[in-house]
Amino acid sequence: MNSGVLTASYLIAAVLFILSLAGLSKQETAKNGNLYGIIGMAIALVATLSRPEVSAVWLILIAMAIGAVIGAKVALKVEMTEMPELVAILHSFVGLAAVLVGYNSYADHVPMTGVMLNIHLTEIFLGVFIGAVTFTGSVVAFGKLRGKISSKALTLPHRHKLNLAACVISFLLMIYFVKNGGSTFSLLVMTAIALWFGWHLVSSIGGADMPVVISMLNSYSGWAAAAAGFMLSNDLLIITGALVGSSGAILSYIMCKAMNRSFISVIAGGFGNDPVDHGDGEEYGDPVEITAEGVAEMLKGSKSIVITPGYGMAVAQAQHPIYEITQKLRADGINVRFGIHPVAGRLPGHMNVLLAEAKVPYDIVLGMEEINDDLSDTDTVLVIGANDTVNPAAAENPSSPLAGMPVLEVWKARNVVVFKRGMSTGYAGVQNPLFFKENTSMLFGDAKASVDAILKAL
Ligand code: NDP
Repeated sequence: MNSGVLTASYLIAAVLFILSLAGLSKQETAKNGNLYGIIGMAIALVATLSRPEVSAVWLILIAMAIGAVIGAKVALKVEMTEMPELVAILHSFVGLAAVLVGYNSYADHVPMTGVMLNIHLTEIFLGVFIGAVTFTGSVVAFGKLRGKISSKALTLPHRHKLNLAACVISFLLMIYFVKNGGSTFSLLVMTAIALWFGWHLVSSIGGADMPVVISMLNSYSGWAAAAAGFMLSNDLLIITGALVGSSGAILSYIMCKAMNRSFISVIAGGFGNDPVDHGDGEEYGDPVEITAEGVAEMLKGSKSIVITPGYGMAVAQAQHPIYEITQKLRADGINVRFGIHPVAGRLPGHMNVLLAEAKVPYDIVLGMEEINDDLSDTDTVLVIGANDTVNPAAAENPSSPLAGMPVLEVWKARNVVVFKRGMSTGYAGVQNPLFFKENTSMLFGDAKASVDAILKAL
């Protein structure tokens, strides 16, 4: 492929990636967005394999075939609730790839001198640093999402000073590395520091702030890819990495605003967070239980109902029978709507995807800000497997890890029914005073079985 065709192919692929991102920003256009991304990536791969400096194409094709088989197998097997873990581990691969590309570029680069050499060495050093932070950070995020590592924040003594020291030492090592025309020792020491830094940064962030961490790691993986693009002199990789990096940063910012968190505090590993109270020591009394038949009667006697789903709905896969109940009640003239918290579930937009899968019309699915003012005029709220996103402690307890995060104020409704299997806490590990309020009843059991039983009673 000559250089003109190559540049044109890269340009077309880059435009398709931009269209893909634009498409993915709305549910109605998300399918097209995915398609643009697939076509763009196919063009990018063919064009890159046709570059004159690429040799032993068959080796690359074998590696791609093995990767494609593993990727397809994992993607087909993965449950919707496991998607965030999959995304986190995929981010770690991007980070690891940037580290390997960095070491490869260091060991085997075209001879250069002067400013060009300095620039190249800086690219290598930064690429390895960002890649290593992304790698261990994503592995810890994977562990926290899978429940292998506690979701509570790790608070080492002097943790902010340790983070600062890691950055300062890495910076000094970079100056040494560039000034000496490269130094394997400083590259290795920095890699070890960056691996520790990534691990510590994400370990220090509590469960409630994990949504921001995931989008932040998404952003880091983009910058790691862009750094690899600089090292390999591949323009498309630079553009793609910058697109992922900046869109991830924008998403992190939006998430921080939605959760009333300081962007700087989260990216600096929980900088400025005070000691927290998980509410374990409080005496709440006993929760009041209700049966499925009791809930059915309550629903029949209501004029307005709001359903607030959470992670438990995804686990139980209860979205289909919930929509059946919705249709039944709406046919009887009852106003039934859904209220969605921006971080409900384990992925941005998780609940919207599940409700769209069950064919719930978009016009009855409202965001938290749209529904919160209506909750005090609502007869019944059904909390289906949500916990942290409806926890009044966020508004009432300034020491709670959830403090300051806007939540769905479901306790303001006349009646609240909480669907869950037992009394365990949500992802942030915080007790929920909602379960003990006078107007709250608990319907214990798997959310799908409970919803099926209500459907039968209706
Ligand atoms: P939570 O994780 O707070 O709570 C889910 C509840 O569902 C649990 O209390 C659990 O209780 C219940 N549950 C689990 N399985 C079932 C089942 N089969 N049937 C019925 N109930 C079930 O959910 P939320 O959606 O309210 O909050 C999301 C949390 O996840 C927030 O803390 C958010 O910060 C965090 N997070 C969000 C991400 C995002 O991007 N959206 C990413 C990472 C973290 P029990 O076991 O007793 O049944």
